[in-house]
Amino acid sequence: MATEEKINLLGLDRAAMEALFQELGQKAFHGRNVLKWIHKHGVIDFEAMTDVPKRLRAQLAEIAEIRVPEIVFDQPSRDGTHKWVLELDCNNRVESVHIPDGDRNTLCVSSQVGCSLDCSFCSTAQQGFNRNLSSAEIIGQVWVTVHRMGKPLSNVVMMGMGEPLANFDAVVQAMNIMQEDLAYMLSKYRVTISTSGIVPAIYRLNEVSDVSLAVSLHAPNNELRDRLVPINKKYPLEELIPACREFVRNDKRRKVTWEYVMLDGVNDSDKHAKELIRLLEGTPSKMNLIPFNPFPGTEFRSSSPERIEAFRQRLMKAGIISITRKTRGDDIDAACGQLVGKVKDRSRRELKFAGRSARS
Ligand code: SAH
Repeated sequence: MATEEKINLLGLDRAAMEALFQELGQKAFHGRNVLKWIHKHGVIDFEAMTDVPKRLRAQLAEIAEIRVPEIVFDQPSRDGTHKWVLELDCNNRVESVHIPDGDRNTLCVSSQVGCSLDCSFCSTAQQGFNRNLSSAEIIGQVWVTVHRMGKPLSNVVMMGMGEPLANFDAVVQAMNIMQEDLAYMLSKYRVTISTSGIVPAIYRLNEVSDVSLAVSLHAPNNELRDRLVPINKKYPLEELIPACREFVRNDKRRKVTWEYVMLDGVNDSDKHAKELIRLLEGTPSKMNLIPFNPFPGTEFRSSSPERIEAFRQRLMKAGIISITRKTRGDDIDAACGQLVGKVKDRSRRELKFAGRSARS
């Protein structure tokens, strides 16, 4: 008979951990201790959690486990960017990218295997959608970075594969752990969620979480945005912009970060810049211009560096802080829009898994 799957403690934030321990008839502070062991100290063996009573450790081992993703591929880039592929189960892999830059060490985290949105310039879109990641699989990417790879971490951006707001609860829980004092202690300004613009979820996020917001804008009008970011047909700019403005309203330090991929002859003219300036009037904004990263089969080309700089200057003159995002890790396909979760080599995996009791 199939045994019931054990609960993976890796993905529980403080509230969930406390609730679980109370359900077990235990004091909530033991739950906080376990959280701290896992995420602050990187300990995933119950027996090593010396301030947790022995009987409780045995009880935990019965019903729970601490399962971390396995690194199956590890690829450094010439520029210090580092990508690794994590295996989640026998059919699903995701990539995380570590980007050192001066004092900053940013991890780009995935939220889904594949993506269900169909942005025309993104290679993740080409592979379709497989499934949501659990909160354990999302925070597992951070855990692996800090505790397996020994990399420092100052910032997390939910800008890997997938649309994070389409996997709302798991992403929020994982971001809670990133900000948790007992875990990674990242401030609300150092955890950024990037969305293509799922408007109701932006309002909901504003109620339950305090993080920084980045939005993939890519076009200054609905007609063009409908083509580049098709979710715009459902949530057009006249709904998206107010939702973003509301998100930053209560914090004077906050700005919306807009992502704008520079596509040659598509969205990069002076006229587009002017339209963009008008669109963002009244919204505290920071603009990230992203040179387009090509991938096989794409019809798009990146704007030239000169065009990007002219576009940037126009925005700057209008008072919009604008930077051109450095392309990092492009020699290892780790740049924006180049992540592909490979779902290959099943036969080998199945061999490896044969003989183990199936979990799912
Ligand atoms: N789904 C979320 C998270 C992905 S973040 C979102 O849309 O925001 C990845 C960022 O890289 C997004 O701004 C995305 O639009 C951008 N991007 C995708 N493909 C790209 C490409 N080929 N070149 C440059 N940027 C790309």
